[in-house]
Amino acid sequence: MDTGTYAYADIIIDISHEKVDKPFQYRIPEALSGVIAIGVRVRIPFGKGNGLRTGYVVGLSNTPAFDVGRMKEIAGPAPGSTPVRSQLIQLAWWMKRTYGCTMNQALKTVLPVKQAAKGREKKTLCCLLDGPALRGAIGEAQKKGYQARARLLSAFLETPELSMEAASAKLKVTASSIRPLVERGVLSIRSEEISKSPVRGVEAPDQRPLLNEEQAHAAGRFTADYDAGVRTAYLLHGITGSGKTEVYMECMEHVLARGRQVILLIPEISLTYQTVMRFYRRFGDKIAILNSRLSDGERFDQWKRAEEGRVSVMIGPRSALFAPFERLGLIIMDEEHEGAYKSETTPRYHAREAARRRAMDSGASLILGSATPSMEAYQEALSGKSTLLRLTQRAVSGSRIPAVEIVDLREELRDGNKSMFSRRLKELIEDRLEKREQIMLFINRRGYSNFISCRSCGEPVRCPHCDVSLTLHGKSRLVCHYCGYSIPMMENCPSCGSPYLAGFGAGTQKLEELAKKEFPGSRILRMDADTTAKKGGHEAILSAFSGHEADILIGTQMIVKGHDFGRVTLVGIMAADLSLNTPDYRCSERTFQLLTQAAGRAGRGERAGAVVFQTYQPDHYAIRSAASQDYEAFYRQEIAYRRAMNYPPLCRMQAVLFSSASREALGAAAERSKEALLQALSENGREEAQFIGPVHAPVYKVNDIYRKILYIKSEKCDILDRIRGILENLAAGNEAFRPVTIQYDIS
Ligand code: ADP
Ligand code: ZN
Ligand code: ZN
Repeated sequence: MDTGTYAYADIIIDISHEKVDKPFQYRIPEALSGVIAIGVRVRIPFGKGNGLRTGYVVGLSNTPAFDVGRMKEIAGPAPGSTPVRSQLIQLAWWMKRTYGCTMNQALKTVLPVKQAAKGREKKTLCCLLDGPALRGAIGEAQKKGYQARARLLSAFLETPELSMEAASAKLKVTASSIRPLVERGVLSIRSEEISKSPVRGVEAPDQRPLLNEEQAHAAGRFTADYDAGVRTAYLLHGITGSGKTEVYMECMEHVLARGRQVILLIPEISLTYQTVMRFYRRFGDKIAILNSRLSDGERFDQWKRAEEGRVSVMIGPRSALFAPFERLGLIIMDEEHEGAYKSETTPRYHAREAARRRAMDSGASLILGSATPSMEAYQEALSGKSTLLRLTQRAVSGSRIPAVEIVDLREELRDGNKSMFSRRLKELIEDRLEKREQIMLFINRRGYSNFISCRSCGEPVRCPHCDVSLTLHGKSRLVCHYCGYSIPMMENCPSCGSPYLAGFGAGTQKLEELAKKEFPGSRILRMDADTTAKKGGHEAILSAFSGHEADILIGTQMIVKGHDFGRVTLVGIMAADLSLNTPDYRCSERTFQLLTQAAGRAGRGERAGAVVFQTYQPDHYAIRSAASQDYEAFYRQEIAYRRAMNYPPLCRMQAVLFSSASREALGAAAERSKEALLQALSENGREEAQFIGPVHAPVYKVNDIYRKILYIKSEKCDILDRIRGILENLAAGNEAFRPVTIQYDIS
């Protein structure tokens, strides 16, 4: 926590308001210096009458924002504070400093919008008067001509309670007639929440499997640590289907039994009905679930349930991390490597980092779980910063990791097969159709046709300075998104001279068309952003496939996650290298993750599974190690590449995103920023930071706004923090920066 002494504090009066209130600045009295910190609740004089109100400290400084003579002073700390809100405000403060956003943006991220859920409440009117008094009140209302009130009160001669619904529907009484009666103590209103929990009525037969040796060891290590008072981070590296979820549940149960609370983060895409029901069966109504389909009101409801201690497990994607638990004991992050854990709007925080921070602040442990851990998580585990727990076997006996065959598409082309289906894949599909087994075909649309590769030698066209592939702009230029290098589109492959340079141009729709032609009579389902746009579309398609209403499921990333399909015995990856050539230093990591997870879909049941990777780059380490399901081999090669190129996790990379409607202002501001940074950093700092750009953003113009990026790489976090400070000062008083927006993204 910040222990410096400050003269002024920014204070917000009501923190969980629709718009987080504007902060007001107050003087910190000498007596309170050192007591006032971010997140502390204080009493302050407010408004004309200087009545005392309660507020939260959200900022500290030594510069007054206005005339100190007119500035009021903090009256004192507020008693009976809710520590969890203070904690969340501290988390927001950390977010602001780490990711470079305003305190308001950070507060809005960690605190939910205050809003009552509509139509979810059942209100009942209760009469507080006995017979004679009630009759008196009826008489009085009639005398004064209040017909509606008299009608309502008369109803209570027969019943002590009346639902609000009945009062308005049958008796035609409105709120304006009820209010005065409530105010006078004639009636009271009782509200009850209508429970939406899907467990209602569901008996919870909890058939928990006996943990196997590896699972028991992993869970045992955690629980022993926990009981010894050790609070730390763990990486549970378990192959697909190794039973990580059972280990999570064991650890959760242990923590809950000790009176502490648990947050379980699951990517939205894996938060299927199947998964959710597994947790309900184990933990009943102790759990609350957040998902993006909830309205703001419902979201706030769940938040309140957590704050009031009515639930002790919060399950959901990224934002579940901010559940207001006061006695948090454990945060679990399933599928820790998932891209969705990174926020793509300001503040661009990563849930892994925020979870680590929150766990530290609240004395909780953190478990990261994955079959394909992120480079960051694995490096930490190897360096001893977190404890590595391993599951190397499939949990269901008889289920085995499927065999993967790599098919070289260059050979197919040489042999005259121009179809999207290699001969081997076609043969296997026909075999499965005959046996009435199921098939999943996976095509990654990401990077769809905007990189260029050679169909003869398989080489993508690369930037000579950055080791990322070039991107086709329009029809005639290839551009590097990291350094800005650009050349005209060539006629022949720079590696082998072949004229067959092409973008890989096929999406799910095209694949579906072709599959229908190749395999007439087969029943095909397609799952992509188009077919799942409707509410519940995702579940509907999965359950149709699960019910064997189709033979082939075609899809994007979406089909890789979640369900176990016992009948799937063949998984085909149409173009394993598609995601390999996106202009991003993480593309090999993403490819490896995707392929490993996709291959893990096959052979979940009793029947053995086969997997085919079709690729133009059969020798690429991401593809080879995914085929052999060898995470370690992949990690060793990838970390060497990151080290050689100085990319995260070996350093941190700060992207400064400039955007403006004016191309000139944008260019000037970006250049001016780089100069200012170079000037402001001492010689030492300049040596320790590496500048790239400013370059055009991958998509330069969006909605008529132009965007440029300046990358700064450094091993020193404090240099990157300083950089944001320097730029904020530069932009604040500078006319030329007026039309330019600056945002930050750190990775
Ligand atoms: P992961 O999360 O590692 O992919 P899951 O926890 O979903 O794996 O487990 C995969 C399957 O194995 C599930 O159907 C689960 O019920 C089953 N399973 C897990 N642990 C055991 C066990 N110890 N004995 C039998 N089946 C198990
Ligand atoms: Zn070539
Ligand atoms: Zn480059």
